[in-house]
Amino acid sequence: MSKNKSSESVKVVVRCRPLSRKEESNGPAGGIVQMDLRLGQVILKNPRAPPSEPQKTFTFDAVYDSSSKQRDLYDESVRPLIDSVLAGFNGTIFAYGQTGTGKTYTMQGLWLDPEKQGVIPNAFDHIFTHISRSQSDKQYLVRASYLEIYLEEIRDLLDPNHGNTRGLELRESPETGVYVQDLTSCVCKSIKEIEEVMNVGNQARAVGATDMNEHSSRSHALFLITVECSQPGPDGRKHIRVGRLNLVDLAGSERQAKTGVQGDRLKEAAKINLSLSALGNVISALADGRSSHVPYRDSKLTRLLQDSLGGNAKTVMVATLGPAPQHYDETLTTLRYANRAKNIQNQPRVNEDPKDALLREFQKEIARLRAQLNHRRFRSKQKKEQVDGEAWEREGDEEEEEVEEEEVEKEAEEFVKLEEQRLEKENEAIREDQFMLAEEKQKLLGENEKMMGDLRKRQEATEQLTARYKAMESKLLVGGKNIIDHTNEQQKMLEMKRQEIAEQTRKEREMQQQMLIQDEEAVELRETFTSLQQEVEAKTKKLKKLYAKLQCTKAEIKDVNDEHVRSRQELEQTQNELTRELKFKYLIIENFIPPEEKNKIMNRLMFDPEEDEWKFKPLVPDESKSSQMKKRPASAVGYKRPISQYARVALSMGTHSRYRAENVMLLELDMTPPNTSALTDGEQNQSPTLNNFPTNDKGICKSRSWCQSQKSITSSSSNNSLVGCQTAAPAVAM
Ligand code: ADP
Ligand code: MG
Repeated sequence: MSKNKSSESVKVVVRCRPLSRKEESNGPAGGIVQMDLRLGQVILKNPRAPPSEPQKTFTFDAVYDSSSKQRDLYDESVRPLIDSVLAGFNGTIFAYGQTGTGKTYTMQGLWLDPEKQGVIPNAFDHIFTHISRSQSDKQYLVRASYLEIYLEEIRDLLDPNHGNTRGLELRESPETGVYVQDLTSCVCKSIKEIEEVMNVGNQARAVGATDMNEHSSRSHALFLITVECSQPGPDGRKHIRVGRLNLVDLAGSERQAKTGVQGDRLKEAAKINLSLSALGNVISALADGRSSHVPYRDSKLTRLLQDSLGGNAKTVMVATLGPAPQHYDETLTTLRYANRAKNIQNQPRVNEDPKDALLREFQKEIARLRAQLNHRRFRSKQKKEQVDGEAWEREGDEEEEEVEEEEVEKEAEEFVKLEEQRLEKENEAIREDQFMLAEEKQKLLGENEKMMGDLRKRQEATEQLTARYKAMESKLLVGGKNIIDHTNEQQKMLEMKRQEIAEQTRKEREMQQQMLIQDEEAVELRETFTSLQQEVEAKTKKLKKLYAKLQCTKAEIKDVNDEHVRSRQELEQTQNELTRELKFKYLIIENFIPPEEKNKIMNRLMFDPEEDEWKFKPLVPDESKSSQMKKRPASAVGYKRPISQYARVALSMGTHSRYRAENVMLLELDMTPPNTSALTDGEQNQSPTLNNFPTNDKGICKSRSWCQSQKSITSSSSNNSLVGCQTAAPAVAM
């Protein structure tokens, strides 16, 4: 599988945008970034430092100043990478820098102005032009996907429902490495189609965000292009090479203030730059070369770019700078970041015949459809031959293969027409036949009708098959065939020349850089001196150089220390906020959730490292999901529902008054003896005075009798007293 085992470092180029109008109007200070295009150096001036302080110099693979053209950057730094992708390597280009420094301008540019088109439109052009110019024995399949990572969630920008659904998941397979599950992937047949895909994604990005500017500076956008190419090898078999290209527009690298926020906003703030700080940690770990652990798994972005950083890919990083003095700190951080990334070593190799190549499946499907079509054609021919009574002359499958699909279609149509005519004639003959019985006529006509229907159905099926076959085949691009090449030879030559010039410039710069290093070494080597004076001069020169170097290193150490202190303080503050939040949650849990409930929840929780989330274990184990739920234990055998002991006894006692429904009426206790005797004494007709009934104003004499006579009267007496009371009550009213 591997062709080229040699390792190569990540290419880092730096681009500085021009001063904006606003920055120009702020003052005549001018930019703080100077560039030496010949040497590939960036010289940074600290606007707050005294003039004696040495300026900081960084060297990169290439630098582009404010007057640089999009085309120059593409031809010099990106074109070789895209060529590699077309040859079957993985490739990644990512733009890194503070918001407003030109990441999106570099990656996308201004679509309508051909001069200002960025890396992505130029890459589209490059890929499809390459395909149209390649040999006709090559078949290509180009696919595109577009996603963004926002608050550590992956969103599919080509899926219209991406806003409603939860983020997509990352999966890993030994064949392809890390990939996004269920990501939409569109087959593109031309520049126009792939541009359309990009537009759809850009619109989805803009619609999903309330404040586009803020959203875009906080989310990472990844445009993925897969180019599969099949070509017959020396062994006669078709070999497939798959090149994957990641075009990444990262979120703004500026520090997001995390302090003073609480709750959800804190969580959000902590997540915003998680991917970027993880990217920084990965780059540091890789550039260091000593650390055995590279924290790829810390964020979604680093997992997705795992191959691009220290793995099987060729990578170009474009670090973008702004020249304004007020952003000195950020610019310096960007340059340091970029400087570190230079040391990352990748091991790119050609992806040859991977198992998951879609092109292979497409080819198989096309072959299957073709075979089906041929089979149909063969059958219809046979039938035609039977009908015509002619001999089937042509034979041989090879010849069949040669025949174009249009001919297949034409012949099938012809056959159907002939058959229809024949059946029509037969029908007429039957109708005109005077010797045939009406019943028989009907039967024969019906049979013919059925045959006609079958014929039409078959024809329809063939048409559908042909359409499917054509649709499938059109997805594959054949070298030099599918796209009309508008460029003439002269233009081709011009492009070649431009490429050569870019190559020359690159080589020249590399040589200049080499010379500079050698020059420094040479000073040390020149140890033989003709005179003492010369020796003093040489040594003074050397001393000066070393002193300057020392100063630079000291300043560097101080800067790095300051930065560490700053980031430590920030982390401490974040930690404090999080601890406070945690205490708050603890308070709620300890005071408002019963301990047994808490324990139940705790026992069911488990951490899913794949999704970086706590999850509940399923209540019912997975394997027994299909089996029936356990039966609810019956507390009373023979009863439908669980039933209390009291109710069971009550049931067995029947209508026993002890177990009647409870008396829910609130009764007041009164200790006066019952006066039912007075009623039985034949005084009913007497109108009682208030004195005779000291408690009648309450009208609840029954309770008295019940309470008073608990010992002597059985519980049923309460009924009697109630009757008594009822009879007494009207008397009171009178
Ligand atoms: P970012 O994506 O890094 O936040 P943008 O790409 O949106 O920044 O650029 C901010 C502004 O600066 C845009 O208006 C863009 O046109 C302008 N700009 C950036 N780089 C350049 C450049 N090299 N030349 C001219 N204009 C530029
Ligand atoms: Mg942007």
